[in-house]
Amino acid sequence: ARVGGRDVPLPLGARTLEALYGLNLSAAQVEAYFESRRERGRAIRNSEDAIVARVGRELFETLFAGYTRKQWGLEARELDASVCGRIPVRFDRDERYFTDWFQAMPRDGYAALVERLLGHPRIEVALGTSFEALGNRVRFRYLVYTGPIDAYFEHRFGALPYRSLRFEFETIERERFQPVGVVNFPGDEPYTRVTEFKHLTGQAHAATTIAREYPRSAGEPYYPIPTPANRALYAKYAAKATSETNVAFVGRLAEYRYYNMDQAVASALAAFERIARERVA
Ligand code: UDP
Repeated sequence: ARVGGRDVPLPLGARTLEALYGLNLSAAQVEAYFESRRERGRAIRNSEDAIVARVGRELFETLFAGYTRKQWGLEARELDASVCGRIPVRFDRDERYFTDWFQAMPRDGYAALVERLLGHPRIEVALGTSFEALGNRVRFRYLVYTGPIDAYFEHRFGALPYRSLRFEFETIERERFQPVGVVNFPGDEPYTRVTEFKHLTGQAHAATTIAREYPRSAGEPYYPIPTPANRALYAKYAAKATSETNVAFVGRLAEYRYYNMDQAVASALAAFERIARERVA
């Protein structure tokens, strides 16, 4: 994260305290530091609690309050604890965002991966076609629906809110733009983060391409917005979905769940196993 001109490692850990406060602490000392700052006994009901109860108010204000306000258009206290709770708190000097044993990029990139999936002779792609418009044209025995669940039911209980982003790409005639793949901006900038892709792909080139992310409410739905009211509204649609016996609702939008990419893939594979079992039985 870039805070007041300083580059601060995230998730929170020893290196964060070093960059912010010039503290050089062992893991045990980092744990003791958070212990001394955190609001003990605070019930964890929302995203503000999730951070303040673990590391205290100051780190919450510095790294989470502004970023969350921009990203969601809501205060952290209005969001489920799981939203900010996604970000781990560590005591050691590990600076990685994810600590999975296996981390990889598709050899030829995601575009090639998806192109090859869609190249299957039994897959037909209809672009610029709404699901409703397809209704009369396509016959199916079984449907896997991955769009917004409220749209499937014609918003009959009201619209479920989704958050969107505008990506602004820029190619710069310089080998490197920023020191790491992703820099978060919790401050007053209108964007939340800047990704410089060559850090992720290993690309070697004299120029570099970055994307700035500008959160917005209108536009293509990317994120379900985890609040108690939205969860209650989703529950109505989910109850309705159980009576659609030849339809599976799968993914971030259809399940109204804030999946990470790995979780989204796992959920798709699990859905496939379930459907295959049901169809064979
Ligand atoms: N967050 C934050 N500051 C940060 C990073 C994350 O406040 O520097 C909060 C914010 O509410 C964000 C959530 O934690 O939406 C989840 O962050 P993550 O990086 O997982 O977001 P995603 O990659 O899903 O957009």
